[in-house]
Amino acid sequence: MLKRRALLAAGLPWPVRAAGAYSGPVFDAHLHYNDDAQQPHPPEDVLARMKRAGVQGALVNSRPNDGTLRLVATPGAQWVPFIRLYRNRADYDSWFVDDSIRRMVLDLLQAGSPAGPFRGLGEFHLYDSANADGPTAIALMKLARERGLCVLAHVDAVAVDRLLGHAPGAALIWAHTGIGGEPVRRVRALFDKHPGLRGELSYRPGLTVDGRLSDDWRALLTQHAGRFLIGSDTWITQRWQHYEALFADYRHWLGDLPQEAAQRIAWGNAAELFSLRGLG
Ligand SMILES: [Zn+2]
Repeated sequence: MLKRRALLAAGLPWPVRAAGAYSGPVFDAHLHYNDDAQQPHPPEDVLARMKRAGVQGALVNSRPNDGTLRLVATPGAQWVPFIRLYRNRADYDSWFVDDSIRRMVLDLLQAGSPAGPFRGLGEFHLYDSANADGPTAIALMKLARERGLCVLAHVDAVAVDRLLGHAPGAALIWAHTGIGGEPVRRVRALFDKHPGLRGELSYRPGLTVDGRLSDDWRALLTQHAGRFLIGSDTWITQRWQHYEALFADYRHWLGDLPQEAAQRIAWGNAAELFSLRGLG
């Protein structure tokens, strides 16, 4: 009540919607199951955490790729396997000029996974946007478009533009939607320019203020509700311990959006992109 009085005193409108947390299904669009996580968090533990968080499907990738093969062989969720471009830490810095990575991708595409064909490439990183023009980066973007694969890219706004310039119309999920904090107007301009671009929202600076969506982001997510996804980004083992709390936070701010927008961002957009089964 105090808060309401303060808002009214400041001449600000009291939000019309009561902000209850989103309670529907969730897809984790950024799940890593790396080598070092597998011993402390075997697949049954991962599934138990997902269940407690209400996460019913996930985009899975791991360094190296055997973690993905192991997790998606375990029934209990709708798995969407992606090919990680890294066999080891060294590959982070050279994959974009390394043709052996392209050949590894082709072999894995042919072999498939226990949960069916691989659906995408990534997460990959480009710490220098100029490397978006590396020969392997270009070849993989073209391959993704040809084969209808989605790409999960941890890159800056310049690299998003360059990568999609190599394969216009390809489906690219921008991991973190600008972890460097690119201004919302820059993000919006990229979404307007590239219809295949989607944004994943983990670690996005400025997304929330005190756990609630900021005004800029509420406007962008409402306007482009069909283009955003949420993910855990379990990039280090420690992050698995916070898995349920993380999704509780997401559910909290999803409640700041119109119900239909929240449902799309939590589940519907992934369901459409990856042809997920309906939920009974
Ligand atoms: Zn990641």
